[in-house]
Amino acid sequence: MDCLFCKIINGEIPSAKVYEDEYVYAFKDINPQAPVHVLVVPKTHICCADKIAAENSVNVAKVFEAIPKIASTLGLTNGYRVINNCGEDGCQTVKHIHFHVLGGKKLPETMA
Ligand code: AMP
Ligand code: ZN
Repeated sequence: MDCLFCKIINGEIPSAKVYEDEYVYAFKDINPQAPVHVLVVPKTHICCADKIAAENSVNVAKVFEAIPKIASTLGLTNGYRVINNCGEDGCQTVKHIHFHVLGGKKLPETMA
């Protein structure tokens, strides 16, 4: 499958890995929007939040179980923001579901 994040997960394309387990891979965003900006992705290819269903939601649950561990490792003791962009109107550019974890400073309140 021609998917950028599948290629990052399987090591075909290099990334700055910050966390990995059986279900989840996390790496630094190449174009950071905050002092800390990582992408947390399930290893299973799911294109977007709109395709989460009973059969694949365990992979998303694993992402959210990993996020506190990743946040702790990255020193985000004062909070952080988790963002998912979905589809055209959500401005999703990479069609492998991913969750942006942003922090390291007080983030702006507005998002849209
Ligand atoms: P989205 O707009 O929600 O689909 O987010 C895609 C994100 O992937 C953007 O923040 C990009 O900066 C990031 N990105 C694209 N290519 C890479 C890459 N090779 N390594 C790390 N992050 C990437
Ligand atoms: Zn993929």
